[in-house]
Amino acid sequence: MLVVERHASTSVHPRASGQTPRTMELYRWAGIDEEVLGVSERASQGLRITIASSLAGPVFHRLLEDMSELDLDAAVGLPWGMAGQDVVEPILLARAEKSGAQVRFSTTLTSFEQDAEEVAAQVSPDGGEPYLVRARYLVAADGGRSRIRERLGIPVDGLGAIGHSIGVVFDADLGDRLQPDVTDLYYLQHPEFTGALVNTDVPGRYVFAADYHPERGESVDDFPPERLTKLIRAATDLPELAPEIRWVGAWEMAARVARHFRAGRVFLAGDAAKVTPPTGGMGGNTAVGDGHALAWQLAAVLRGEAGPRLLDAYEAERRPIAELVVNTSLHNAKQRMAPELDLSGVGDPVDQIELTLGFRYRSSAVLIEDDDPRPTENPNAPSGRAGFRAPHVPLGDGRSIVDLLGRGWVVLANGPSWRSATREVAAETGVALQCFEAGQDFGDPQGVFAVRYGLEPDGATLVRPDGIVAWRTGPVPDPAGTLWDVLARVLSR
Ligand SMILES: Cc1cc2nc3c(=O)[nH]c(=O)nc-3n(C[C@H](O)[C@H](O)[C@H](O)COP(=O)(O)OP(=O)(O)OC[C@H]3O[C@@H](n4cnc5c(N)ncnc54)[C@H](O)[C@@H]3O)c2cc1C
Repeated sequence: MLVVERHASTSVHPRASGQTPRTMELYRWAGIDEEVLGVSERASQGLRITIASSLAGPVFHRLLEDMSELDLDAAVGLPWGMAGQDVVEPILLARAEKSGAQVRFSTTLTSFEQDAEEVAAQVSPDGGEPYLVRARYLVAADGGRSRIRERLGIPVDGLGAIGHSIGVVFDADLGDRLQPDVTDLYYLQHPEFTGALVNTDVPGRYVFAADYHPERGESVDDFPPERLTKLIRAATDLPELAPEIRWVGAWEMAARVARHFRAGRVFLAGDAAKVTPPTGGMGGNTAVGDGHALAWQLAAVLRGEAGPRLLDAYEAERRPIAELVVNTSLHNAKQRMAPELDLSGVGDPVDQIELTLGFRYRSSAVLIEDDDPRPTENPNAPSGRAGFRAPHVPLGDGRSIVDLLGRGWVVLANGPSWRSATREVAAETGVALQCFEAGQDFGDPQGVFAVRYGLEPDGATLVRPDGIVAWRTGPVPDPAGTLWDVLARVLSR
């Protein structure tokens, strides 16, 4: 795998701060969850969200006091992460390189062509000669203004731009204005501006954003350090504060979902596929989810385990999530920052915990046998049905059942008939497939496995490499034949 990035390094801005337990699950399977927790001093302490006029001004609403309000014990065995993108990206980079990925910085993709067999991309290193790269597939992870998406002629749906912000990273001593040991996020509805202020992983460093109005002719140039200092003083209620401004940039708060996530051999991922308002912290998390989804599906096809039609599951599964994320974040934006936002025509929000841990995929890569149309369920009372995340079960040794997943296909069996069947099918198909039998291969001290997975004695659940239930069954007369059949269907073989 080759990655080209036109910048000289990973992100210097903390942007996507915070990892959901689902993202931590994906990171655990990649072996980097502890490192990600370790780079954020506030990791275990949590998040506080306040809507106020300014840091010492009237508080309009506290959305979240502390993370223990979110009782997720039955849903997941992993914590939230609180690390920023600036400290997580180097970890992802090292992990990708360890797996053999080549990552070339200061290198821009300038054009590409595709035919039925491959993609040919022209890339241009800064100060060097352009060269051609040929690959079986291209992943456009080139951000919200994706040139690749434009070049493919894929339109975007949604409200589009809903606001513009000047973002500032600054160092200062804010005293006890913010709680140092948690991510302390303030949405500010100040008489002079609407904005946000949050601490970062670096003590004494903060991110501040205030809205500006290009439609009235304003630009970043209208915000010299003196004006930004004035705004930061107003936001913090510290009239003498002398912030050291480290970074300033403009960004657009927008809601856009690409109409298609795929054109031939090219896939859109992350912000290239959808841009969401940051209210909810889901943009970066779902970008990681897109990357993981593409990674396992492309690997399965390239290894010959799956037919190319498996790749149709990517858009079928990820685009509805993108829409839910954007709609929910828009409703959050209206509540937290922009009460005047007109959301008629925008779909209803969904509960953010359900969206994070109780989402449901529908595609050819899951065999759904019920007619429940709801897009999510309460992850604290999981049903174990196909399309949902494989429910968390504590194994009694500090691990979760999730630790058995994520490295291939897994049969979780509630009886003895599945072990030899799984071995037989793995040998015949060459698919990385393992069986774990309750009571034999893993403990279930709380006795919740069969309930959370909805399994009868000698039933079984087939879990995909991304920890999603592909299929569930009661006892069958021919476990090997049935499993072979099911695997062939969900892998489009
Ligand atoms: C102020 C702000 C706050 C945010 N807060 C949160 C949050 O709290 N939680 C959250 O989950 N998300 C948050 N987000 C969103 C999050 O940052 C994005 O969703 C995430 O960065 C998307 O990742 P990406 O890789 O898709 O795109 P990007 O991070 O934009 O990366 C795209 C990369 O592609 C490179 N590139 C583009 N074109 C080319 C080319 N032709 N050749 C080579 N390289 C190219 C760019 O240089 C860029 O580095 C925030 C965003 C902003 C702006």
